Amino acid sequence: MPTTDFGDPRHVSLLVEQIRKKAVGPWTIMEVCGGQTHAILRYGIDQLLPDSLRIVHGPGCPVCVTPMESIDRAIQIASSPGVVFCTFGDMLRVPGSRGDLMQARSNGADIRIIQTPLEAYRIALEESSRGAEFDRKSGRQVVLFAIGFETTAPATAMAIRLAKQSQLDCFSALVCHVLVPPALEAIFSDPLHGIDGLLAAGHVCTIAGYRPYESIAQRHSIPIAITGFEPVDLLRGILAVIEQLQAGRSKFSAVNSYEHIAGIDGNIHAQSLVDEVFEISDQSWRGMGSLPRSGLKLRKSYASFDANHRFEFESVVPREPSICRAADVLRGKIRPIECPEFGKRCNPSNPIGAPMVSNEGACAAYYIYQSLAVRKTQTLEI
Ligand code: SF4
Repeated sequence: MPTTDFGDPRHVSLLVEQIRKKAVGPWTIMEVCGGQTHAILRYGIDQLLPDSLRIVHGPGCPVCVTPMESIDRAIQIASSPGVVFCTFGDMLRVPGSRGDLMQARSNGADIRIIQTPLEAYRIALEESSRGAEFDRKSGRQVVLFAIGFETTAPATAMAIRLAKQSQLDCFSALVCHVLVPPALEAIFSDPLHGIDGLLAAGHVCTIAGYRPYESIAQRHSIPIAITGFEPVDLLRGILAVIEQLQAGRSKFSAVNSYEHIAGIDGNIHAQSLVDEVFEISDQSWRGMGSLPRSGLKLRKSYASFDANHRFEFESVVPREPSICRAADVLRGKIRPIECPEFGKRCNPSNPIGAPMVSNEGACAAYYIYQSLAVRKTQTLEI
């Protein structure tokens, strides 16, 4: 069904009708993108679906999966004298073992909010041009907190490559980039994962391609649809998954429902930039532990820009609050509203876990749109 209006109510109605006819479940479909989580709740997509379909949310929020030990390191770096610490705004309130970056900022740390890693490079360039005291030897430095999935890694790589080209000695990065397919491998390797189908994040595939999802679909017998963020995108993806489930094929595949944006090989220029600066490494994920080959670290040729080598860190044993069910939320075992603390002790003003902090977090999404959903349900019942 070709369309250029991905919020067109007529297309939405037609897709919902087809889904209702074909969804003979019960089936549980996981999405793995913070943008999709919020779109599903904001547009009430979950309420349009039949009871036989349940949507759960995987590790798709970059802020939520950044491990506590990285937050602890970030706070220690940001609190060091002479450091300008550059971070995305969402990271400010993510809890570490002993507070968060917001508290470090109120204690005097120079923490600046950026929209893209290149802003951190520009800040370093400006600061270094202001005076000779802003260099690595004097201890005056600009540090980028580089978090996110395959989508943000190219911009981080670009910032670091530019810093190397311009011999910007005062610039470094605390790199915590993660890769989606290894996390999905970990989830689907659990025999009790309970997931029948997957919506893969279209923007991640736009960069990295979707070949890895083909092998995940086949190896774990999970039908996958690559899709986007608009209502028509999401519903097309859901339909593509349930059509495979309904057909009961012995071999499932990754279907591209985002073909107007994503291609099977992704953006090879972005990939080659990432490959020049980073190599694949084991990585710790919040709520999921250390996953093999699931992150990026700087190659030897760029190691001098690694903030881990420039600072000394006090050893802090990360302690997740035992009442937080973020690990179960991130693995799709429960939805946020099934956490006993949801909306009670845990809310956006007082977040206990990272998924309640970020704009892309599943718990925050449910909290923000829950009252809207209640109102809508009441209206429909009238
Ligand atoms: S509602 Fe709060 S306590 Fe519960 S899983 Fe989400 S972040 Fe953790």
